[in-house]
Amino acid sequence: MFHVKHYDVIVIGGGHAGTEAAAAAARIGASTVLVTMQESDIGTLSCNPAIGGLGKGHLVREIDALDGCMGRIADRAGIQFRLLNRRKGPAVRGPRAQMDRAAYRREARAHLDGISGLELLFGEVMSFVRDGQTIRGVALADGTELRAASVVLTTGTFLNGLIHIGDETHKAGRWGDEASYGLAASLAELDLPRGRLKTGTPPRLDGRTIDWSVLESQPGDDEPELFSDLSHEPALTQISCGITHTNERTHQIIQDNLGRSAMYGGRIHGVGPRYCPSIEDKVTRFADKTSHQVFLEPEGLADPTVYPNGISTSLPRDVQEAYVRTIKGLENVVILQPGYAVEYDYIDPRALEPTLQVSTIKGLYLAGQINGTTGYEEAGAQGLVAGLNAAAAALGREPIIFSRTDSYIGVMIDDLTTRGVTEPYRMFTSRAEFRLTLRADNADQRLTPLGVKLGCVGAERQVQFAEKMEKYAAARIIAENARFSPSELVKRGISVRQDGQARSVFDLMSYVDLDDAAMLGLAPELSAYPPSIIEQLRNDAIYHQYTDRQARDAAMLKAEEQILLPADLDYANLSGLSSELQRKLTAQRPRSLAEASRLEGMTPAALTLILATTRNLARKRAG
Ligand code: FAD
Repeated sequence: MFHVKHYDVIVIGGGHAGTEAAAAAARIGASTVLVTMQESDIGTLSCNPAIGGLGKGHLVREIDALDGCMGRIADRAGIQFRLLNRRKGPAVRGPRAQMDRAAYRREARAHLDGISGLELLFGEVMSFVRDGQTIRGVALADGTELRAASVVLTTGTFLNGLIHIGDETHKAGRWGDEASYGLAASLAELDLPRGRLKTGTPPRLDGRTIDWSVLESQPGDDEPELFSDLSHEPALTQISCGITHTNERTHQIIQDNLGRSAMYGGRIHGVGPRYCPSIEDKVTRFADKTSHQVFLEPEGLADPTVYPNGISTSLPRDVQEAYVRTIKGLENVVILQPGYAVEYDYIDPRALEPTLQVSTIKGLYLAGQINGTTGYEEAGAQGLVAGLNAAAAALGREPIIFSRTDSYIGVMIDDLTTRGVTEPYRMFTSRAEFRLTLRADNADQRLTPLGVKLGCVGAERQVQFAEKMEKYAAARIIAENARFSPSELVKRGISVRQDGQARSVFDLMSYVDLDDAAMLGLAPELSAYPPSIIEQLRNDAIYHQYTDRQARDAAMLKAEEQILLPADLDYANLSGLSSELQRKLTAQRPRSLAEASRLEGMTPAALTLILATTRNLARKRAG
């Protein structure tokens, strides 16, 4: 007789989605078990050893605002912090940090070990246990059965994973890891819409064989911008990366061997990320460019492995060696692990509710790369949403829905569940229509109060956030109340239009280059506040003028999100709709007016018609 154990939530997979899902479920009080193939899965960075970046950094800040794991782990494991787009406005700045791979694993494990109500189990999940369309639990390879009201599936690239290096092909979830075939078969029985995607990674180099002396060096920021509001300074020694370039000889070797590339030789059918092209893609798509930049990123303080960012490939090993050695500084380099492409199954995320529960299977939630996304941050943010909702359902609480108007998390979930994916989905700031208000710097103001309400924010963050907001509110009153006429400002050397309008220090912060000395000259009481509060004031001042308009647009979108469309609305016979829209609406069945408004080709007239029909139906049904 095999053992049966009971929990509220089971999370399958200990990658980035699984880690956040399990931690979030446990934080709000669900008894949770995280099952993953092996101990080393926890905190594994499968590809580049870096967290954050443009759009992705916003997601990490939002995860942190809800007391998630990624930001804190990254701060403890970071060996080079850089704020991208520093010279541009705060809305599009993206915090990024390079990680020490081993430290990231260690810190991730320590973080999970510190969460009460969370158990870790190492083994392979082979199948789901269910009653018809309701999930009841999972069965492991060793015969153990786990039961729970909610199961979160986060198996990344492991479902029917196939690795390609030139014409070599083998089954694997990622380098050195078995693929998950048993579970893929059990999932297939659920009859969910599926597709095939691919992603690639570059060869890993032995840093001891790189000639660093001839390379340009890129240091991190002097004042590192950390991800978490709970971190104070980097825990590890900070390092510089190297920069080198491909050249015409490199490109020639790649061109000559394109037919041997798995991606170009027609052996891979999955679709890859356009914005993260392989070196084969770059050489063919941008044929007029004679050189591409390559960042040489050390993978750790005590690890000689170097990640050459920018040359992911699925060419055969001998070709990889030949082209890499044409690059300056890499003439004698030794490859420690070849680059490869991995092809895997994903589930069409339009099969999911905004809670990330599968619409047709009660209790089953999906998060991470299995939903067609790419990246640790996208995976982590979905894990958080799925974990919170899986726990809420198990505990009999209301679902937790994130809106496009309050977070990048909401933007991503809405994009995935309403539009689906045609290539691996990655976050960009351009995906958010409210990006001036959805900034990395105000993630805590936007989301921590929600997290406190949900019960997923711990005491330390609650206290710190309350203290910060108290200081911020007081500083803001000072900045708004210190008002000066144009003539007074001119006397103090601050030039403004002489229009007779008094301006507050807060107003001035938005458009005058008001340095700290000038600001303190106008409002000396602000000297009592730390630089972080002053910077927050400056950022909020810059966007204040836009926020009114965005708030109006956001309110409209929120209202539309709340207008739910009947599941049986007969679009095919709705005269006044073009046949193209009739077809799209029938196929996609948008859940809300907001979802309908985002269908390609949707018009204001068609939306008005759908709204009127919905209201008529509701009136008829009401009586
Ligand atoms: P993963 O981190 O893959 O975690 C899945 C976990 O599930 C694993 O720990 C696995 O052991 C476990 N698991 C699977 N099946 C079972 C089972 N049956 N039972 C128990 N446990 C199971 N992202 C980028 O942003 N840029 C890139 O350039 C990039 N390149 C990549 C290249 C490669 C080769 C790979 C593999 C990934 C790449 N990624 C890239 C993607 C990034 O690594 C993933 O998006 C991210 O790790 C996904 O997180 P996840 O939690 O969904 O899955």
